[in-house]
Amino acid sequence: MTAAQAKHNLAGKILLSLLLGAALGVGAHALFGAAPWLVWTVNKITRPLGTMWLRALIMIVVPLVFASLTLGVAGLGDIRKLGRIGLKTLGFFLLITACATTIGLAVVNTLQPGKGLPEVTRDEMLAQFGSDVAQMKETAGAISFGPEMLVNIIPRNPVAAAANGDMLALIFFSLLFGAALGLLPRERAQPMLGAIQALADVVVIIIGWVMKLAPIGVFALIFSVTALFGYDIMQKLMWFVVTVVIGLVIHAAVVYPLLIRFVAGLNPFSVLPRIYPVLITAFSTSSSNATLPTTMSVSERELNVPREISGFVLPLGATMNMNGTALFEGVTVLFIAQVFGAGLPLSTQLVVVLMSVVTAVGVAGVPSGAIPLLMMILGIVGLPPEAIALVLGVDRILDMCRTTVNVAGDVTTALVVSRSEGYNLGSPVRLRAPAAS
Ligand code: ASP
Repeated sequence: MTAAQAKHNLAGKILLSLLLGAALGVGAHALFGAAPWLVWTVNKITRPLGTMWLRALIMIVVPLVFASLTLGVAGLGDIRKLGRIGLKTLGFFLLITACATTIGLAVVNTLQPGKGLPEVTRDEMLAQFGSDVAQMKETAGAISFGPEMLVNIIPRNPVAAAANGDMLALIFFSLLFGAALGLLPRERAQPMLGAIQALADVVVIIIGWVMKLAPIGVFALIFSVTALFGYDIMQKLMWFVVTVVIGLVIHAAVVYPLLIRFVAGLNPFSVLPRIYPVLITAFSTSSSNATLPTTMSVSERELNVPREISGFVLPLGATMNMNGTALFEGVTVLFIAQVFGAGLPLSTQLVVVLMSVVTAVGVAGVPSGAIPLLMMILGIVGLPPEAIALVLGVDRILDMCRTTVNVAGDVTTALVVSRSEGYNLGSPVRLRAPAAS
């Protein structure tokens, strides 16, 4: 079997295990509810198994981000090129994130899912999830916003930033490191470049191993979520869930394909089947960070995105480009306002758009990373942050959906930026041999 066949085989297995995990989880819940043996199986077997796989993916993220950003930037050679690609990337992130939030607000204003929510359901949710919120409030209170957010991008200690998973600070350091390395005379830079290239190659091998276990990890994660999911809560919040999903589908099925077709010059229908392992990993892990290794290897291998672009755009995107999250934030704020009968005027809705776009940059690419920032936005527009309890019961399922859209946005950006830099995209290539350095 060739390497390409093996990859396709694996992708098929991952899809199968997603479907199987979901079918068995939903079926088990329908037949046995919260039977003690089912709860035990999830808590003692499938969830730990899924979490082990998730942790193995996250384990690779820090060395991957450091190596790929450093090599990507050093490889650009010219600091002006870095500035140009950087500005393009950030500008594009902001544009599509604003677009996503606007779609979200249009849908939530049209469907008004909060208007019909019975008061008993509202009070029930607030009571049921109230204790979780108290703990989250602390996290939300600890978030620095405004000038402090900018200050914190510069790490006092890059090793501590890496150790704490402080991605923006790690990205900042890696960019500087790569830029400086690119300025050194070739023979002086070579030993360090060689070492980092070796680190990147090692990381690629580890990603391959971890992804071989994806069918098990995906199955375990999906089964755990679906078997113990609160379907009754889902029913009660059906309109809210439907509103978020419609917004996400419009963004993913209209905006991305248009950009891929008319800006990146590719056929979106040929892109989709090549990136579905990325989408499935995002859906099952609910984490842009955990998906990053897959996003990078698939974009390079299947879509021919050059290393210097994927190594720069995708790590930044996993941290800063969260279209689905921004859309979710906008819809949720308006939903909560509707539930409390507080119609938000257009000016406040514009604040919501702005805050959703800005906070989406600061949301950590981990499961439920959006919640603390969402609480902050609620406070800013004069709604009680505790009201987040209303949607916590369906957060996981919506997190899976929005993370998928977040990651698809990163791939779209990588394609658009590559094309704008004149690279030839789209022809699938075999896994590249590590660049000779
Ligand atoms: N889970 C999302 C991500 O990793 C962040 C969020 O919306 O909570 O992209």
